[in-house]
Amino acid sequence: MSYYSPSIEKLIESFEKLPSIGHKTATRLAFHMLDLNEEDTKEFIESILSAKKNLRYCSQCFNISDTDPCPICNSPKRDSSIICVVEDVKDVIAMEKTHEFKGVYHVLHGSISPMNGIGPDDIKIKELLNRINSSKINEIILATNPRVEGEATAIYLSKLIKPLGISVTRIAHGIPVGGDLEYTDEVTLAKALEGRREI
Ligand SMILES: [Zn+2]
Repeated sequence: MSYYSPSIEKLIESFEKLPSIGHKTATRLAFHMLDLNEEDTKEFIESILSAKKNLRYCSQCFNISDTDPCPICNSPKRDSSIICVVEDVKDVIAMEKTHEFKGVYHVLHGSISPMNGIGPDDIKIKELLNRINSSKINEIILATNPRVEGEATAIYLSKLIKPLGISVTRIAHGIPVGGDLEYTDEVTLAKALEGRREI
């Protein structure tokens, strides 16, 4: 039996659906929202709705962006002959924070994981091969996470791409095994990028 009114209960439940938000935090956030004035409440709701409406995937790299192509693919300062392949949109942000990478990205939106029923066709591998076939690419940097799935994806991609005569490199270890690019500090990630090797 709940002590709260059904509308507060509903609001708490909504917050509980967010990642790493437990019941206690959800309750605190719900009550915080109730304290907001109408203008702040509208602004909060609008920002969620507008992010959902305006954000799309870049048709080249599949990064999330307000524009298509995204600002990175569209920038004349970036070297489009070097593609850094990552698993997730958040990995692009991690790499960008190093300020070391001047190429472009390709977001796979996952990694090959037979255990979870995710095969090569379920992530953006076909799209990567299309890019490779339709433009001049000098190097593919495989920056998938150093976990079983990330390694398997890197090996799979290397076997596909190397025969095309393109240099395929893997970012160096230094990123803890089982770790995430997303949670790796900039210096470690910059070093991993610098120490990449042909695979
Ligand atoms: Zn892009």
